[in-house]
Amino acid sequence: MDLSLLLFHLRNVSPFFASLALFAESVITEDIETAATDGRRLLFNPKFMSQHTPAEQLGVLVHELLHAALRHVIRRQGAHPVLWNIAADIVVNGIIFQTEGLTLPKSALRDDKIANFTVEEVYEILRSRNPKLEDLEIHFIGSDLVPPDSKDASAVLSPEQISSNRDHWNAALAQAATMPCVCNASWIPVPSLSSATMRPCFS
Ligand SMILES: [Zn+2]
Repeated sequence: MDLSLLLFHLRNVSPFFASLALFAESVITEDIETAATDGRRLLFNPKFMSQHTPAEQLGVLVHELLHAALRHVIRRQGAHPVLWNIAADIVVNGIIFQTEGLTLPKSALRDDKIANFTVEEVYEILRSRNPKLEDLEIHFIGSDLVPPDSKDASAVLSPEQISSNRDHWNAALAQAATMPCVCNASWIPVPSLSSATMRPCFS
């Protein structure tokens, strides 16, 4: 895989996502089996990526980028890590599937009925559907949210890590919001209005 070529292509598909990607370090590594993010870096296993088409690789890159930019690593707090990861996947995949020019591997989780909710809301819906959380750990193999400095998905982040990550991505989203947005996602968080405010991605 050629990361710089992927990032260059992203500029043609979505200047908004390409601008966001400038705020993340993309790393090719065999430390993880597929792709992941620690909230700041985007990590890609070369063998995993080579199993996908260039279009799917771009979708995987945006998938990890959205996890990072929407702060899915640090927003988990005490939530069950596997169920939280599934909820976060439904949210980011919903945005990607609504974005013209982007696609994802066929195995990508999708639930269009709830994809436009916040990750916390999706988590609560999934929790009400899945009282036996231990079953999820057997069937879900796509864990890709990794706390910084730890391979333990249930590790607790310090207040300093949380505020630093929040400030970083608030600045990134404010910068990206100045770019023309060609995605069809109905919302994207814009921190300049309020950290909790959602607004149409384009109007
Ligand atoms: Zn994911």
